[in-house]
Amino acid sequence: MGSREERHRHHHDLVPLAALISRELKNEKMERPTVRYGSAAQSRKGEDYFFMKTDCQRVPGNPSTFFSVFGIFDGHNGSAAAIFSRDHLLNYVLDAIPRGLGRDEWLHALPRALVAGFVKTDKEFQSKGKTSGTTATFVIVDGWTVTVASVGDSRCILDAQGGGVSVLTVDHRLEENAEERERVTASGGEVGRLSIFGGTEVGPLRCWPGGLCLSRSIGDMDVGEFIVPIPYVKQVKLSSTGGRLIIASDGIWDALSSEMAAKSCRGLPADLASQLVVKEALRTRGLKDDTTCIVVDIIPPDNRVPPPPTPKKYTKLKALLFRKKSYGSANKLSMKLASVGIVEELFEEGSAMLAERLGNDDTSGQTSSLFVCAVCQADLAPNEGISVHAGSIFSMSSKPWQGPFLCADCRNKKDAMEGKRPSGVRVV
Ligand SMILES: [Zn+2]
Repeated sequence: MGSREERHRHHHDLVPLAALISRELKNEKMERPTVRYGSAAQSRKGEDYFFMKTDCQRVPGNPSTFFSVFGIFDGHNGSAAAIFSRDHLLNYVLDAIPRGLGRDEWLHALPRALVAGFVKTDKEFQSKGKTSGTTATFVIVDGWTVTVASVGDSRCILDAQGGGVSVLTVDHRLEENAEERERVTASGGEVGRLSIFGGTEVGPLRCWPGGLCLSRSIGDMDVGEFIVPIPYVKQVKLSSTGGRLIIASDGIWDALSSEMAAKSCRGLPADLASQLVVKEALRTRGLKDDTTCIVVDIIPPDNRVPPPPTPKKYTKLKALLFRKKSYGSANKLSMKLASVGIVEELFEEGSAMLAERLGNDDTSGQTSSLFVCAVCQADLAPNEGISVHAGSIFSMSSKPWQGPFLCADCRNKKDAMEGKRPSGVRVV
């Protein structure tokens, strides 16, 4: 897994041609895209919440470092977890990014900070002793770079200008995700359907105790802790022709495929587009669930008329481009395709193991962050921190005395998520 990070870091070494390099430099100098957005919602249970903030600054006081954040939180068993996440997740993520980073380093640090922020939000919410849980799909747009982190089944899709539709999230539904079923079972959960009337099984696969259909969420303290808040994270860079993001709760996706949603609103401005997607979902399925949709357009600054889509050619390119990168050669291939001008995949990771997601602290050893908990950012006394790698299978390849470090509380949380202690039991 470390190798993926390494590939990410050495990305630029793979650009083979001077032409590509100069193009890249030109791109950096190029003006940033305009972001336009709109949202629409139809409520049934009142448990969907959303978040939109377009005036965030990477360097406080410097408006040229602005970025935008969008989020959807689809609550269950109440709305407290969704509201808490909407109000705190962004700050917890930003707290986990080291200070003083340049733009590229900041974007590089983002996937890890998102993991820390999601886990901290879950931990803080659970400490309030309230029930309820929520999905979270959180999207950060900085220039042409889009970073998406998600738990649960609220999806984010990308309709790339001049390209086609791709999904930037995975659904953490037990019914559809065999890998997650295996993980939950191995951590001590039981996966099965509701049974009624003498054993007849009904409905989707659920996890017991608790009966949740999702394998990841924020909150849900009455469910086993193997229902983890560790997000799937994907980071992509759009070409200079831009694209459209559609972020929505399952009320949309149970009614419309990604392609249907994208097609239903092409050519319309973001605010009308979001309304139309909701309308289309209701027309197809009726109002069976909370239905929320955010549309975000990333528009080239000079308002160039984008080239018309070329669906056939694109399908082939997309298949190659979004193929899982496992080998150096595949990586080189995507770089070449990216230079053709579609979408460049910068980062993708979905593991539920905290040690794997926080990685080795090889970059910040010289800073004071050595003595800060990598999840909750609490200060640690010199002998207090426990390496995230201690006692894990990953410690074979990394040094258990190396950071990042966790406070005792976050270490307990990590063990619980991995099924190493019964959930709900506090280790003092
Ligand atoms: Zn901590």
